[in-house]
Amino acid sequence: MKQYASVTKDSCIACGSCSSAAPEIFDLDNDGVAEVIYEGDSNRGITAIARELLADLQDAIDSCPTGCIKLAAAPLT
Ligand code: SF4
Repeated sequence: MKQYASVTKDSCIACGSCSSAAPEIFDLDNDGVAEVIYEGDSNRGITAIARELLADLQDAIDSCPTGCIKLAAAPLT
């Protein structure tokens, strides 16, 4: 199954856990808030995450203290 992700930035506390767990998927933006950077997704949640990165993605979701990483089986926007 394909997986798509995005960060609800309003709920992100910029802890950096997601970018540590999955640096190919998440990074902090210029305001220090996390976003999905995978393959130029720009936090739109429209780029299917590669199968080999899904374990890292789940680690990032599990490590997020505010639960602000959205995950879906279809594009989010
Ligand atoms: S783990 Fe969650 S709260 Fe922390 S930077 Fe990533 S999205 Fe934001």
